[in-house]
Order: sequence, then structure tokens, then C-alpha cells
Amino acid sequence: MASVLSSPSENQVAVSATKLLINNRWVNSQSGKTFATINPTTGKEICQVAEADAADVDIAVKAARAAYEHGPWRKTSGPARARLLNRLADLIEKHADELARLESLDNGKPLSMARHVDVAATIGCYRYFAGWADKVMGKTIPIEGNFFCYTRHEAIGVCGQIIPWNFPMLMQAWKLAPALATGNTSVLKPAEQTPLTALRIGELILEAGFPEGVVNILPGFGETAGAAIANHMDIDKVAFTGSTEVGHLILQAAGKSNLKRVSLELGGKSPNIVFADADMDKAVEGSHMALFFNQGQVCCAGSRVFVEDKVYDQFVERSTARAEKRTVGDPFDAGTEQGPQVDQTQLDKVLSYIESGQSEGAKLNCGGGRVGDKGYFVEPTVFSDVQDSMKIAREEIFGPVMSIIRFKNLDEVIDRANRTVYGLAAGVWTRDIGKALAIANNVRAGTVWVNCYNVLDTAAPFGGFKQSGIGRELGEYGLQQYTEVKTVVVNL
Ligand code: ADP
Repeated sequence: MASVLSSPSENQVAVSATKLLINNRWVNSQSGKTFATINPTTGKEICQVAEADAADVDIAVKAARAAYEHGPWRKTSGPARARLLNRLADLIEKHADELARLESLDNGKPLSMARHVDVAATIGCYRYFAGWADKVMGKTIPIEGNFFCYTRHEAIGVCGQIIPWNFPMLMQAWKLAPALATGNTSVLKPAEQTPLTALRIGELILEAGFPEGVVNILPGFGETAGAAIANHMDIDKVAFTGSTEVGHLILQAAGKSNLKRVSLELGGKSPNIVFADADMDKAVEGSHMALFFNQGQVCCAGSRVFVEDKVYDQFVERSTARAEKRTVGDPFDAGTEQGPQVDQTQLDKVLSYIESGQSEGAKLNCGGGRVGDKGYFVEPTVFSDVQDSMKIAREEIFGPVMSIIRFKNLDEVIDRANRTVYGLAAGVWTRDIGKALAIANNVRAGTVWVNCYNVLDTAAPFGGFKQSGIGRELGEYGLQQYTEVKTVVVNL
């Protein structure tokens, strides 16, 4: 394992935007309060950021409402919205290296990942939805009588968008791009752990030329600014990505306030199923990436690795060897595969799950501890002999902790894979198309990967069954979250 912190991460990029973006202006919060954003590699403060609360949300919602109802945005055509989104994508591309560094600094993810995954996918997302902006259309419907009936897919209005810290820039794109493509306005709250790239992209949004009030960005905490968005009477829709626990709160808030539309992308405990006939090299490496990618901080992580009896011992041995080779270190070092967890809370949470795995009798094959005493690094950890009833097999750990579980046959593994409150994703590794499709058809999950994992594409819908969420993001399905269908009937 590489040593932690061989270079001073603080000096890797300058921070320019730290205030709230409301109505195309950078402002302090009403309270004047600020909060620290921390570098997870060192545990030290990067800078102070303005802290939004309910009063700021109110002002931002008024700006977003005015932009939606009376501003030039309402009259901005689809092709013109596409041009703005493409201009934003061009600006992000121009500043790709800087944005990647900012993301690594604030979140801790390896720089190469930030550049080639997060920034690349962010650009792709804005371009993809730019392509839809002039293709949002309804149908003409033949009805009884002498009438002309058609539908319009109209913008919903003011969207409150609350995003998490694991892919800060990309989750901002997943929210803003479809909302803006369809003509909505937004009040967006980045996660308190990682506000910096959202704000920098705010500067690029101004440079691209979006009209006043269309995009408002309010860093702040969940229980204050986030709750104010979820409860607001003049927000028409709330889109949230984060924990299932907070997803329940958002839905309750929408129900208690104005029945705003809700889309939720929540937690997971995704089964990743390895049959004995699989290409074992690919299954071991694919399952490693399925779990350890992004420090294990991925909602669709393959965190229950079900392995068929006949190859179980071999798989455990090889997965352990792979995890032991994983390089943990400074995200700015070129050879780093795994950076720190995002903050102290996550570090403590992951370590407490590791303790619970040990106390409930799982076998610790490697890892299990913290790396170094600075920053929030965790050793890549592999447990075997994990039972379905153990906490590490039931709850979302959101860290670099793999649980390998034994199974004997197809029907049994489908049944056990489905015994969870979650349903975000699943993976299956096999050379038998029958088994692959049996898993694809019978596991209740929003995405099933066959002989691959974590293959996400802006054109392919993503979201959860059961308590993993409501609605789908991305692709054509993702547009539906941002439009209302209006039926028009004309007497001929
Ligand atoms: P995690 O536990 O992984 O940090 P959360 O679900 O708490 O995930 O956070 C995801 C996003 O939800 C963040 O932007 C956070 O500020 C926000 N959030 C947290 N609590 C609430 C809440 N009660 N109401 C609205 N938003 C919240």
C-alpha cells in the first residue's frame, strides 16, 4: 500500500467561488454565516463557504419563480436552451483539469478518476440533454367525436434539487441538465461536504449566459437549507439523491406541504452474483471494481457478493489478493486507486461496520483498519463467511468493505438477492445465457449488469425499485421527471 500524503494537496488548485448564487449574483447568506469545507486527505479546512438557510432558500425560490413565469427563460426556445447547455459543456471541457483537481481536493477521489469519470461524464450529460432540449414533444391522440386532441410536455416549474457528496459535479449535471433542457428553473443545494465544484460550475453557468434566476446554487446543511427546499410551498418539484433515510423525510415533507413532485435516488445493497462457470479473471476484477470504485462510496456498489459454492474458496482468495494490492494514498498521486473517505463521519461509520462484521463472526481476510492518522483513509477490506443476517450484509456501508457470501443454486440466490429493502442494481457473472437472463428477469433492481458492473451511460435510465428510489434519471425516461403532461382538446 502506498503511503498517505506524499504531496501537499492544499496547493493543487485555487478556489474562486464560495458564496451563494442567487439570481445570477454571488451573495452572502442572510445570516452572514459560513461553514468550513474540509480536505479529506488531510482533515484540514480548504476554505469557508456561505451557509444558506430557509431565508436564502426563500429568496432563491422567488428568483427562480420570477425567471420561470416572467423572465426570458419562459420564452427561450428548445434550440436556444440546447445552445446554452452546449456552451456550458464547452466551458466545462475548457476547464476540465481545474474542475477535476477541485473535485479531488474537496471529495478525495483520485485525480485520474475525477478527470476521466466525473468530468467526462458531466460534459457528456450536459451535451446529451442539450440534444433533447428541442425534442420535448407530446402526441396527437384520436378521440371520439369531432375534436382535435393533443398533449404538451410542459416544464414543471421551480425545481428544488438536493445532491450528495460522492459524485458532486456529476450529480449536479444529472439534476440540472434535464431540468434546464425541459425549461424548468432550479434551486440546487450541493452537499455540505463538497460544495466547491457546484459553485465553480455556477461561475461557468453565468459565463454561458443563462438568464437571471434560472439556476440558483445554495450550499448549506441538510436539516436547514435542504429541509427548507423539501418543505417549500412554492417549489413544484424536488429531486433528491442521497440516503434512504433522508429520502423518507423528503417524501414526507412533500406530502405535508404542497404535494410537490418527488424523484428520489437512494441507497442500495446490490447483489453481485458469481456463478462457477464465469470467466474467473473477469469476475474477480469486475467484482473488485464493483465494490471498491470511488472508495466504495457508490449507491449501486456490488456490496453483497454471492459466490457459488464450487468456486467460493478460490474467489475469496483471489479477491483478497486483489484488495491487498489496491493502492491507497493521496488522490493527487498518479498511482493512487483509492483516496480517503469523504469525512470523519463516514470514516467512523465504515470502521464501525467493520467492527460489527468481526463481532458477528464474519472472517476478516484483509484490511479492517484505518490507514495512517491523517485524513480519512480506510484499508481495502474483505470479509468472507458472511451470512445474510449480518449487519454488513443488510445495511449500506458506503465504504471499501467487501462481503463475500456463499450460495448453492440459482433459485436460492434469486430469493436471497431479493431479500432486502433495496433494489437499485445487481450484477451477474456467468457464461450461461439462461442463468444470466434468469437473474436479469427475477432480481428486483433498477439496473442489472451481465458480465460487467457500474456501466452507466447518460442515455440509459438509472434508478431504484423498492426503497432505492422513485423515478428514473438519465435517458429519455429521465425527462419525464421534469415535465407535466397537458392534454388539450379543441372542438372542431
Ligand atoms: P449521507 O448520509 O450519505 O451524507 P444524506 O442523505 O444525509 O447522505 O445527504 C444527501 C444530501 O441530502 C445532502 O445534500 C444533504 O445535505 C441533504 N440532506 C440531509 N438531510 C436532509 C434533510 N433532512 N432534508 C433535506 N435534505 C437533507
